[in-house]
Amino acid sequence: MTQPRNETIFTLTTGPVNCYPAVLQALGRPVLYDYDPGFLETYSRVSQKAMAAMQTSVPPIILQGEPVLGLEAAAASVVSPDDVVLNLASGVYGDGYRYWLEPRCREYLEIRTPFNEAIDPDAVAAMLEQRPDITVVAVCHHDTPSGTINPVAAIGALVAKSRAVFIVDAVSSFGGMEILPDAVHADIFVTGPNKCLGCPPGLSLLAISAKGWEKIKSNPRAPKASILSILDWEHAWRPDQPFPFTPSVAEINALEAALDLYLAEGAQVVWARHAATAAACRAGIKAMGLTLWAAREEIASPTATAVALPLGVDETALRRIMRDDYGVMISSGRGETHNKLVRIGHMGPTAQPIYALTAVAALGAALNKLVAGACDIGAGAAAVIASIDAS
Ligand SMILES: *Cc1c(COP(=O)(O)O)cnc(C)c1O
Repeated sequence: MTQPRNETIFTLTTGPVNCYPAVLQALGRPVLYDYDPGFLETYSRVSQKAMAAMQTSVPPIILQGEPVLGLEAAAASVVSPDDVVLNLASGVYGDGYRYWLEPRCREYLEIRTPFNEAIDPDAVAAMLEQRPDITVVAVCHHDTPSGTINPVAAIGALVAKSRAVFIVDAVSSFGGMEILPDAVHADIFVTGPNKCLGCPPGLSLLAISAKGWEKIKSNPRAPKASILSILDWEHAWRPDQPFPFTPSVAEINALEAALDLYLAEGAQVVWARHAATAAACRAGIKAMGLTLWAAREEIASPTATAVALPLGVDETALRRIMRDDYGVMISSGRGETHNKLVRIGHMGPTAQPIYALTAVAALGAALNKLVAGACDIGAGAAAVIASIDAS
């Protein structure tokens, strides 16, 4: 290629992801005054649709910032100076949650795995038995910088039998695979519309159980009159209740469009579309001669595929060739996984099996420019198509 393309045509990242066209249209709708009866109705309706998507019995809390706000708010609202906290760290996000937990609690405990592995529920069971004084357990469901999934339902069933409340980061898995707050016994379930729901970053969604509310309300340190407050927004979904401050009107409109698409397509169909895309991608990566980052394929995420970098390949150089020569943008590793892997997202609009072909071909071609003969692109492409045909 003589002239670098130097623009992105396919954003196949792990978030932010490209938005659905209907979401972009909704962002462009007139911005109503937040106490306009039309917007009050919209806000209440969006809360109900979010509740339907999350299959909870009360509407989720919508916080006004991308999901890191929801995660910090969860720690700030739940954790009190009396708490003994168990954090489950199998990747960069799970590990990083320590930053918000540790300064707020009496004692911080941790179970760690290598960042290409998943948490073993037996280890959690043993820890809960040994330390019945644990009052908070936190886990990241899909640790995106590793593309690996933790067995949250099994862990949640154990935590539910203890006195502890269970905080789950499901930011990059909710909407792209089967993960529902009540089914996994989550007490504070944090997600956002900017990954698998195909919205721009800007909001957090928090589903909170009765046990979760009880814990938050009994915590004298739970923020109030603060951007971190969950309590401030408890009743905001009711049309007769005031907002604590101005909601992001345009983002709420966009969220409604995304929820409409999700509910109309049907959760099972959406999840299958993500799973089929990831399966095709993994098949292509392996057939091309590359290695998945996940230690075991069973823990590889349906919403992102992490590919181990061949020795000596620089991720920045690789991703630059992919973008400049082919117009394909994928994600790098983060923190401890930086320069050890690259990641292809299958989230929302890009969870379409045929996108795996674009990702595999562009990755293989770029790698071959750095290491001659590294990838058999033909074999990779054939495996992607075979996987799509079989799904
Ligand atoms: C994307 C994501 C978040 C939000 O974090 P940002 O880095 O600000 O996008 C939180 N947790 C997980 C698991 C995520 O994938």
